Amino acid sequence: MKVSSSINKKSFIELSEKDQIDILSNLNEKKFRLSQINNWVFKNHVSNWKEMKNFPLSLIEKLEKTNSLYPLKIIANSKADDNMTQKFIMQTMKGNKIESVLMPTKKRNTVCISSQSGCVLDCKFCATASLGFLQNLNEAEIISQIIYLQKISNKRISNVVFMGMGEPFLNYKNVIEAACRIKDIFNIGSRKITISTAGIASKIRQIADDNHKFKLAISMNASTNEIRKKIMPITEKYPIQDLISSAHYYYKKIKRFITFEYVLLKDINDSVDDAIRLASHLRFLPCKLNIIPYNEIDGAYKRPSNQVINDFVNALDGYPFNVTVRWSKGISIEAGCGQLALKA
Ligand code: SAH
Repeated sequence: MKVSSSINKKSFIELSEKDQIDILSNLNEKKFRLSQINNWVFKNHVSNWKEMKNFPLSLIEKLEKTNSLYPLKIIANSKADDNMTQKFIMQTMKGNKIESVLMPTKKRNTVCISSQSGCVLDCKFCATASLGFLQNLNEAEIISQIIYLQKISNKRISNVVFMGMGEPFLNYKNVIEAACRIKDIFNIGSRKITISTAGIASKIRQIADDNHKFKLAISMNASTNEIRKKIMPITEKYPIQDLISSAHYYYKKIKRFITFEYVLLKDINDSVDDAIRLASHLRFLPCKLNIIPYNEIDGAYKRPSNQVINDFVNALDGYPFNVTVRWSKGISIEAGCGQLALKA
């Protein structure tokens, strides 16, 4: 039997089961090899064919020639000053780059993964925007990031956040399919898988209709449409009112708290008036608010002083939602939120 050449251009784990079996039978291998391969990949998280220790060398050589195992390869890696957070740059088979971050703490072991290479949204404060949009990641490309990171980490991965490169809701189908498989492969509950969106209101309604119970995070980042349009052009299409109404719709159906993220930018969205207007948008919604002091990149935006950050947080006192301040990890290696733009 001949295997079509288009099959060879994909990595093995991206193929349908039928194509995988075709490849094996073409190499005169029996079907049980496939369950062995799946075990090596999804249970043992090997990084390459060579690590499949119960396979004869001759078979490994043939498999290597036929297909790469994964659709990504790691091309650079750096560790933050804390020696815990690690950033990885990976390359897709189309040659585009993405980034993934491993963030172990005492209690958790979180990975931050990409859903796209580059991004189309052009948020003015975000480093990924400078790349433009390059490609959507498919299910295998999304999952492979976690397989690699699990292999590298000596602790079980407990949480996954879609907060790396890209807008997950502009790659909805692949992201949801991948998230569903992540639950099974890594035994991680829906509540520990966070999908963060810049505010694609139509997809917030869709994920509610589809009844997926992943954790939803919305990057709010401004208290008026006027300011938000300047820093997040997507606001033209989905104004704050539409976003908040989609969040209510989501809560009514899914009954899970939503996390709002608010990146604090000096002199742009950091006044006490901003805090009060923000609270007026959120006060009737069961939610949490995560304040992210801006991680500076080369651009025009700055992080407010600690005093301004404290004043902003204090102005939110007494409202019916919890407020936390997230001091991003990995800033020394540009792996903090929004710093992902491929500097090794
Ligand atoms: N596109 C999705 C997910 C990626 S960004 C989204 O917008 O939610 C993940 C978070 O990092 C978002 O809340 C975003 O607003 C924030 N962010 C982007 N650039 C940042 C920066 N330089 N410093 C701090 N947070 C940033």
